[in-house]
Amino acid sequence: MLVQDLHIHTIWSSGDGAVVPEQTVELVAQVRHARVVGISDHFEYLVDGFIEAYVDEVRRAGLHVGTEVNGQAWADAAREAPVDYYVVHCYDTDADYRALERLLDTGRPVIVAHPHAIGTRLARVPTDCRVEINNRYIWRGDWRSYYAPHAQRFRFVLSSDAHQPNWLNQSVARHVAGQLGISEDLLFDA
Ligand SMILES: [Zn+2]
Ligand SMILES: [Zn+2]
Repeated sequence: MLVQDLHIHTIWSSGDGAVVPEQTVELVAQVRHARVVGISDHFEYLVDGFIEAYVDEVRRAGLHVGTEVNGQAWADAAREAPVDYYVVHCYDTDADYRALERLLDTGRPVIVAHPHAIGTRLARVPTDCRVEINNRYIWRGDWRSYYAPHAQRFRFVLSSDAHQPNWLNQSVARHVAGQLGISEDLLFDA
């Protein structure tokens, strides 16, 4: 069993074409592939009146509840969401780095999602953020030269970014973390 997986999508991410109909909160809870499991559906699909029902269903399943925030445009609305943590797309703009600070101000954990896949400059990311090693994207590009200079500066989390049941694993992310000598940071008790 894995230690922690806080970046998982379900059918609540209705507009995300990679999510299959079988990927329900109930199925993720039944599979229970990690000791600490959190769902982090895309905020832009929840904001129009679905956020309360989403949070309620995830909590009733006994899982932690977060949301994935697509850049600075969504940050202020996401601050009001009744979630436990944020998974954030930080694009390489001043406004996006400032949005990380605003989300950290809530006191909730902020995970910078698949940064090397979207061009986040880790030198500009506040050190209070957790940085993700994301199983879906980590093998794309030169992860060693991207992460190694910052390996001592951040706390890291490993994630599946699962959109389908068979993505509920972290095999490549764990290989990379081992190569970099990075141990994962646990955000919640099981
Ligand atoms: Zn993402
Ligand atoms: Zn995601």
